[in-house]
Amino acid sequence: MSKVVELEQLRKEYAQVTALEGLSLEVAQGEVLGLLGHNGAGKTTTIKLILGMIAASSGEVRVLGKSPRGHSAKTLRMQWGYLPENVSFYDQLTGQEVLEYFGRLKRVPSSERYALLERVGLAEAAQRRVKTYSKGMRQRLGLAQALLGHPRLLMLDEPTVGLDPIATRDLYQTLDELRRQGTTVILSSHVLPGIERHIDRVAILREGKLRALGTLDDLRRSASLPFQIKARGHWETGTWEPLLQQRGITDFHVNGTRLEIASAIETKLEVMRMLLADQGVEDLDVQAPSLEALYVYYNREQESGNA
Ligand code: ATP
Repeated sequence: MSKVVELEQLRKEYAQVTALEGLSLEVAQGEVLGLLGHNGAGKTTTIKLILGMIAASSGEVRVLGKSPRGHSAKTLRMQWGYLPENVSFYDQLTGQEVLEYFGRLKRVPSSERYALLERVGLAEAAQRRVKTYSKGMRQRLGLAQALLGHPRLLMLDEPTVGLDPIATRDLYQTLDELRRQGTTVILSSHVLPGIERHIDRVAILREGKLRALGTLDDLRRSASLPFQIKARGHWETGTWEPLLQQRGITDFHVNGTRLEIASAIETKLEVMRMLLADQGVEDLDVQAPSLEALYVYYNREQESGNA
């Protein structure tokens, strides 16, 4: 699969701060990458480097095989969309005028501009000046602006900030649609719940360094965090303790009709088979380690110096 973004040993220093250090990663065509990290981790700096808005102190950036700061910059600009972290528009313009302005720069037909306003739920507010828009409406307009011209690469910096739950759900739906169409997306966020179903891979940054990179399954495997298995039913007191201990599982809790087990990925299937084979088990629920748990794990790992 072709590479849309290639970062090689990127380093970015500001006067007082090293914002990024040794960042290498690739994003393939059609992939949705979640770029996660605390405040100041280097997410916006990474996005600005990809867009060529700032120059790297050292290392290389290639977008669609080209440098975003060379003479290809203008062509690249027509092929990507960007929603900045703090979206701001000229307040006196209406939503429609804003899209017309950006649409002309990208040579997008007016029918598409209108369709985009509808897609982000702003059709009715299209004739109103942006100064009357709520924060969420501005964010939606920013998204419409980023989607102009069917970009091959879409970069969304904290896109859910300011959005209500319905608008957040709509944003993720749009993201899923773009993913099906093969758009490459880089989504920076520290809002974790709900995001995991919409991304293919995760990059976790901390203090300018890449702490983890991979699919959720990759990260789960290397973090070895336990799966939570919960069963409900009727059984005789003392049924489970020896069976679990035989399998080397010590982290479990039995409380009358409820059994909760923390199992390593290696013993997960065996435990489930054991529970399913028991007539007394009436319900079973298995939860993989969440993205939030992985995020905490990879941040702590560095704190304790295990990097
Ligand atoms: P947030 O979630 O708060 O937006 P972030 O992960 O996007 O954070 P960056 O904005 O990339 O983080 O900042 C990374 C580091 O670089 C921070 O320490 C920040 O203070 C510093 N930094 C960013 N821009 C500049 C600048 N123009 N001049 C000096 N330091 C900067």
